[in-house]
Amino acid sequence: MSDRYAVIGNPIGHTKSPLIHGLFAEETGQDMTYGAIEGPLEPADAFADTVRTFIAAGGKGMNVTAPFKLQAFAMADERSERAALAGAVNAMKFENGRIVAENFDGVGLVRDIEINLHQPMAGKRVLVLGAGGAVRGALLPFIAARPARLVIANRNVEKARALVGQVAADATLTACGYAELESMEQFDLVVNATSASLTGQLPPVPPGVFSASGTAYELAYGKGLTPFLRLARNAGVQGIADGVGMLVEQAAEAFAWWRGVRPRTHAIIDRLTVPLD
Ligand code: NDP
Repeated sequence: MSDRYAVIGNPIGHTKSPLIHGLFAEETGQDMTYGAIEGPLEPADAFADTVRTFIAAGGKGMNVTAPFKLQAFAMADERSERAALAGAVNAMKFENGRIVAENFDGVGLVRDIEINLHQPMAGKRVLVLGAGGAVRGALLPFIAARPARLVIANRNVEKARALVGQVAADATLTACGYAELESMEQFDLVVNATSASLTGQLPPVPPGVFSASGTAYELAYGKGLTPFLRLARNAGVQGIADGVGMLVEQAAEAFAWWRGVRPRTHAIIDRLTVPLD
């Protein structure tokens, strides 16, 4: 019987994961199936029951999406360091009766920026907007990329400060509110990791933070030119990108973790890309 994998979320109708993992399996010749499960929102333990039923039926691994990333974290037997900092899990592996948990969102984001977009972060000034789950998952991979400066700006400043305070003291890493950005220098890379674009909103980021020779990256994907990307373009930024590459790269990380073989990603990113203009 083929090895079974699935993504679990609610709602789940929008998910691209079965398509992406199906194409990975085809390309790498892996004997596996990958489905989508709409997880139950209540009662409180129904999510864990659904995962355990999947494991009992021979499931080997799962991706986890909203709103279950925290519940997946809570039920894991082992967690990677980046999953622990994020307090959230987006991939699980079931082996020897144990649930091993990972968070590949940040690694996928860094791979997309550094490898696909050819923008290494080492020595660069990097600004991240937002301090939610995606940023918690991305913080360690961002620090590992060795930027000269890493600023986390959030509407709720305390949330950004608390997150920065959780990692070892590092002079390059600071937290602030949007007002403080007015007096800061330009950044080589500005990442919109808020969820503002999902509702067509713009985080209150001053256009002065963009550098024309830099890059603006929007985590949301499939939405064309979001207000954030439009602001960056109007500020003269040539390099703009959305999160479709991050989506495919985090999937490739999970696939390699599960199957021991790394799939190619470029053709799938091209296939899923919605033009930004
Ligand atoms: P969370 O709900 O955990 O966090 C949301 C963040 O956005 C908070 O920091 C919140 O600020 C901020 N925010 C929301 N609205 C506004 C606004 N109008 N102005 C300023 N800040 C705002 O979301 P996630 O971290 O899980 O997701 C963030 C984004 O990343 C989403 O667009 C999501 O779709 C995308 N994403 C993309 C992935 C990919 O593979 N491409 C993977 C994961 C996420 P505050 O704390 O002040 O409320």
